[in-house]
Amino acid sequence: MPAVFLKSVPRAADLPESSKPQIAMLGRSNVGKSSLINHLAGTGKLARVSVTPGLTRTINLYDFDGRYLLVDLPGYGYSRTAGSREGRFEGMLGEYLSEANQLKLVLLVIDGRHGFQESDRHVLNQMTDVGLPVVVVLNKTDKLSKAEAARALRDVKDEYPNARCLSHSTASTEGLGELRDIIEKTVRGAAG
Ligand code: GDP
Repeated sequence: MPAVFLKSVPRAADLPESSKPQIAMLGRSNVGKSSLINHLAGTGKLARVSVTPGLTRTINLYDFDGRYLLVDLPGYGYSRTAGSREGRFEGMLGEYLSEANQLKLVLLVIDGRHGFQESDRHVLNQMTDVGLPVVVVLNKTDKLSKAEAARALRDVKDEYPNARCLSHSTASTEGLGELRDIIEKTVRGAAG
């Protein structure tokens, strides 16, 4: 069974019950989460890549190969969404974390050109505080020179030595194999 889109829900409480392991994807709006989902799935069609940033407010649920659920949480931190919508994001994330007992791994996607923003640090700290393993995906590295990409990766590792970090770009297969390996190990580990 390939990767399939299951549903979009407005609230974490509306997610269907499932015993499958969950992997959550988080990141600021427009960092390339949807594109990464499509890359992981090997299709351009699964997740809708935004033309207008900051519009996805729902939680999107995907089933990968019948083995695990990928939970795409709404993007945060886009400037037009400041204020009350950030509060709503916080509430939604808290609700999701308190209910997601099958959550095994968090993929935190950041734009390689901009590095960590305060909102990313905040989210990353929340995840590590509750003991969740995090992979930081330094995205859009095709927009950087090799030296810039290496420096950006080093900066992330220096700041969060306990989080795994890898570079990714939809322009190549860079980082994709490593990310799939990490997911595979996580899913196998969850199955005991
Ligand atoms: P989301 O809001 O985080 O889901 O981001 P999207 O996947 O919708 O992507 C936002 C924009 O960034 C779109 O115009 C994508 O085509 C572009 N994008 C996504 N990933 C990459 C990448 O690896 N490299 C480049 N250059 N652009 C990307």
